[in-house]
Parts: sequence; C-alpha cells; structure tokens
Amino acid sequence: MSKRVVIIGGGAAGTLVAIHMASVAKSPLTITVVEPRERLGEGIAYSTPDFGHLLNVPAGGMSAFSAEPDHFRSAVDCAASDFVARRTYSRYLRDTLRATLEKSPHVTLQHLRDSASAIEDSPPSVDTSASGVVSGDAVVLALGNAAPTVPEWIARGPAASTYRVVVDPWLPGVLDSIGVDDRVLCVGTGLTFVDVAMTLARRGVNIRGVSRHGLLPQVHAPMAAPPPLPDDLATLRAPSDVLRWIRLQPDWRSAFASLRPVTQRIWCSWTTFHQSQFLRHCRRQWDVHRHRMSQDVANEFHTLADAGLIAIQRGDARALAATSEFSVVMLCTGPDDSALLGSAPLASLVLEGSICPGPHGIGIATDPRSGAVQRSDGSNLEGVYAIGPLRRGTLWECTAIPEIRAEAEHLAAQLVERLCV
Ligand SMILES: Cc1cc2nc3c(=O)[nH]c(=O)nc-3n(C[C@H](O)[C@H](O)[C@H](O)COP(=O)(O)OP(=O)(O)OC[C@H]3O[C@@H](n4cnc5c(N)ncnc54)[C@H](O)[C@@H]3O)c2cc1C
Repeated sequence: MSKRVVIIGGGAAGTLVAIHMASVAKSPLTITVVEPRERLGEGIAYSTPDFGHLLNVPAGGMSAFSAEPDHFRSAVDCAASDFVARRTYSRYLRDTLRATLEKSPHVTLQHLRDSASAIEDSPPSVDTSASGVVSGDAVVLALGNAAPTVPEWIARGPAASTYRVVVDPWLPGVLDSIGVDDRVLCVGTGLTFVDVAMTLARRGVNIRGVSRHGLLPQVHAPMAAPPPLPDDLATLRAPSDVLRWIRLQPDWRSAFASLRPVTQRIWCSWTTFHQSQFLRHCRRQWDVHRHRMSQDVANEFHTLADAGLIAIQRGDARALAATSEFSVVMLCTGPDDSALLGSAPLASLVLEGSICPGPHGIGIATDPRSGAVQRSDGSNLEGVYAIGPLRRGTLWECTAIPEIRAEAEHLAAQLVERLCV
C-alpha cells in the first residue's frame, strides 16, 4: 500500500524535502504538498518579481544535492562564484523536482493549493482551509519564517499618524503601492532592507533606513582557503572563544566559511547561558558578517546612496517616525516568532500540549538530530517533523539552502527507513 507524506509549505525547504523523498523512495509513495501559492519552490525568498534581487549565496552553494555541488551552477550555466537572480532559483527547484519525479515512477506528488489550518498528531493529519483533512504517515512542517508583527510603538501609536505602515514588505504588490512622492522610513538595515531600498530607489523613491546599530550587511569578496578549525571543537565552549578564534584568523570571511559546517554542532554544545549570551551580545555582529550581500548588489546600493536616494542611520525608529517627515514606515525587521505558536496551523498542536517554543523562544522545539517536533517534556512527537527556519532555536544555523538541503536529505533518508518506502 502507498505511504503518504504530507509537507506543509511548498517553499524551498518543502520542495527540497519532496525532491529528496522522491529520489530515495523505493516503493509506492504519495507526497502531498499543502501550499497556497501557485508555484512550488518560491516561498518568500524566491518569488520576488524583481530580477535585481540576487541570491546572497554564490551559485556554488545553492545545489539541491550536497553530493553534486555543481548541479545548480550547471543548470543555470553560470560560474560557481556568480550571484544569480533569486527567481531563477525557484525555477531550478521546480525543474529538479519534475526531473526527479520522472525518474521515480512509484512516487506521486500532489500540490494541494490550500493552507493548513490545524495539525493533529497520532495519527498525523492536516486540516486545510478548503480541502478538508489530509492524513499521512508523516507530516513535515516547512512553514518558513514567522510573519513580521507590528511593534508596540506603532500598534499603540497616535491614531492620526501621518504615515502608513507596511508590516510585510514581501507581500505581493506592496512595493508597487509606493510612489516617487512617498518618503519611506525602513525600520531595520539588514538584507531585506537592502532589497527593498534598491527596488524603490531605482524608481526614484527616497528611502531612509534606521536601526539601533545602523549596520549594513557585509559584502561577499574573494577569500583565502578556509583555515583549519581547532582540533577539539569543545575548546569553543562559549561565544567569546569563537570570536577570539575568528579574530586570530587572517581573513574573517574564510573563518566564517570554516565555522559554517560546524555552527550547528557548536550551538548545540553551548549551555543555555552561553546561547543567550550570544543572542544578547553577538547576534547583530554575527548576522551582518554571516549574511552578506554580493559585490554587484553592494556597488549598485552605494551608487543609489551616493545619488542621495538611500540614507542609513543609527537611531531610534520611533523618534524618527514621529517627525512627520515620512509618509510610509516599512518594517524590514524580519520574522517575529512571538505569534508563531498562537496562530494556524501550529496553535492546534499547542492546545494538545504537543508542541512548545524552541530554545530562547525562537521557532519550535525539535530534536537536534532527527528534526522531530518535541513536546515540552523533551519527548518526540511521533511522525511530525520540522525543517528550516522553524528550527533556529534548536540549531541556530538552519535558514539557508546549504543547511536546509542537508536537513532535507537527512529527513528523506529517515522517513524512507521509518516508513519502509
Ligand atoms: C528575502 C530573502 C532572501 C533570501 N535569500 C537567500 C539566498 O539567496 N540563499 C539562501 O541560501 N537563503 C536565502 N534566504 C533564506 C531562506 O530562508 C531560505 O533559502 C529558504 O527560502 C527557506 O525556505 P522555506 O521553505 O523554509 O521558507 P519559504 O520559502 O518562506 O516557504 C514557506 C512556505 O510555507 C507556506 N506556508 C506558510 N504557512 C502555511 C500554511 N499554514 N499552510 C500551507 N503553507 C504554508 C508559504 O506559503 C511558503 O511558500 C533568503 C530569505 C529571505 C527572506
């Protein structure tokens, strides 16, 4: 009898799980991907219609298969060091899924264009907004990042504000609603800000970015060979040990490259105290060095800034917004996990006590090895797994393709063994 795996979310992570399940399944398997978007593989990152929004990982790091690092690069015919349009990546994922399914006649994939509204465990099943209940032998949560939420100072701000608030700059069409007469204040100066500012500034819109630190993401550049890590990773037992090791290396970019494959291991080995210390004191600096933009993006960004269209400052967004200088306040602050467990589809599992927040309230609790969703007593929920940004509290480094594809490969192998497909 055919087994069924239900994947909730058909962005990059859900599509990679489907690709790897289809590659390794040996007997009849139905994969149902519950995803409201028309096309799989897009999600937030790879659905942008702007061809100027480039990948922030070089093509050599974006293959769907760890064992074939050139797979993406050769599919789109570019150099491993190139940064191609993000839209191109979603097409690659769909083409790869199609090609894998063609070679796997016993695997059927169904894209259910719907939203999951609730999840039941034992036995796992997914309730959808319009298509009823879908049962499976396993459920994979590939929901991506939590939605951003409105900060208190905006929610409780004066009723007659002089500006309109854009909570999620990635909602389709949102950027089109902004015109050259608008003056836009972006809260947050990370990679989302860079994308948004460039799309708008190219059209002649004036943008100001503000954050507490005023730091822009660093830029990718050619780097030295990754230096060897300490023989004993246990010597990196606190954030200060890692920072000290990075500072001792001649090239910080290559130091990050060496750390990347073991960051999850280092994070998991830290005590809760050291993890919180990292989040409090190192997170900003870590993020701007780890999540970099390409040189081409940086060049264009600085040209637009030199033309007076983009400005960045360190400061208090609330004070700036109160100056009446801006007609739009746009939140580029990224995901906010605070509402994650209280909304669909996870709220149903919370009610049953089957799911709880991840370490430090980030994402959801998962087993570091298997990806199984965990109850608050630390036991694994049978048959329900998570992948991607939902696991940030557990693994820290798990939001980009190199880690997501490794998780997808591992999960597919596990499910095949467990379900004997
Ligand atoms: C703007 C941006 C650019 C990025 N660029 C890169 C890059 O260049 N390289 C890189 O490696 N990483 C990049 N990332 C990191 C990114 O997190 C991953 O690469 C990847 O897109 C994450 O995939 P995902 O499937 O987990 O999330 P998403 O791609 O966001 O997909 C989640 C999917 O879940 C669906 N969903 C949500 N709720 C429900 C529900 N209740 N029912 C059904 N479906 C639901 C959504 O519709 C969505 O399609 C970027 C991230 C962002 C935000």
